[in-house]
Amino acid sequence: MHIRITDLSKGIHRQFLQEPASSLGLEEENLHFTKPVGVQFTLQKVADQIVCQAEVKAIAELECSRCLETVEWEISGEMTILLTFSQGPAPEDSEHEVKIIPPGAKEVDVSEEIRQTILLSIPEKPLCREDCRGLCPHCGTNLNQSRCQCHMKVEDPRWSGLQKLFPNKSKGEGSGCS
Ligand SMILES: [Zn+2]
Ligand SMILES: [Zn+2]
Repeated sequence: MHIRITDLSKGIHRQFLQEPASSLGLEEENLHFTKPVGVQFTLQKVADQIVCQAEVKAIAELECSRCLETVEWEISGEMTILLTFSQGPAPEDSEHEVKIIPPGAKEVDVSEEIRQTILLSIPEKPLCREDCRGLCPHCGTNLNQSRCQCHMKVEDPRWSGLQKLFPNKSKGEGSGCS
């Protein structure tokens, strides 16, 4: 992903760029994107520097951390880097990453910075929904979609315990009040 910097006058410029995730080196075995990555750049040129702000948007297919179903996840991230034309030492007071623009360059490749921003914005434990019930730890049934018999077996001992405590509960009820 290349920002155009030729003939950039002093002041603020906006550039919107789009690129497939694969060409940003983002497609991996466990990471797929359904749409191109879109980045809105705001470039502020001052003297021999360009402050480059980027708002990154992408849609990835992630795996729900509880039920393992595929979730379409909207990823949004932000980053700011400082592009400088001067070949001297990078300004030390800068809170942002500094990238030196080679003399005569017409554009700057920020693919790696965008890639990092996206990777940092991917949640560690995405959920398909807040109350995802996950998979049954015994049989692997997706409990959002159906129930399994394991659940009953887990509760059985408690119910049988209650039945021992009140063996005639169901019979006693009703007979006292006629
Ligand atoms: Zn889920
Ligand atoms: Zn089960």
